[in-house]
Amino acid sequence: MDAIYFVETQSKSIHLIKRLLMDKRLLEILVCPLCKSSLHLDAAKGELVCKADRLAYPIRNDIPVMLVDEARSLTADEVNALN
Ligand SMILES: [Zn+2]
Repeated sequence: MDAIYFVETQSKSIHLIKRLLMDKRLLEILVCPLCKSSLHLDAAKGELVCKADRLAYPIRNDIPVMLVDEARSLTADEVNALN
């Protein structure tokens, strides 16, 4: 059960990253609403990460939610992984 869920999650992430990479303009348009810097796509988690603000914006139903109120703060481990 866990393995099946993992595979489904992985394939959904691959689908997501393909969609985002197909439309490069979309990624260029997507900047952090706080600092206006470009975002890093975390396909595994389905999030768009701002390294400067250490925030992760969620992607729901393939739609990035670019709202600071909806973003979560990165953990110290996640910040370290970015560097
Ligand atoms: Zn930012």
